[in-house]
Amino acid sequence: MAADALILVYVTTVLAALAVVALYSTMRSRKFEPTPSKDHVFRCAKCGFVYTDDPDVDRSRCSQCGKMNEAIKF
Ligand SMILES: [Zn+2]
Repeated sequence: MAADALILVYVTTVLAALAVVALYSTMRSRKFEPTPSKDHVFRCAKCGFVYTDDPDVDRSRCSQCGKMNEAIKF
């Protein structure tokens, strides 16, 4: 009986660990795949460089040529 209980505890622990790993990897892939970022997207009118900046700024300086650009509205 003691061995049965031990096996039950072992199997339950392994299954719980697998569930945690599966949940964790699902959350990670959801976080990184569609990129639901609120960052503003900018496209430089001078050199065409596309970049992002914080959502709280309306204008951002191009890191390639230094021109100020308006955020792209989707
Ligand atoms: Zn530029």
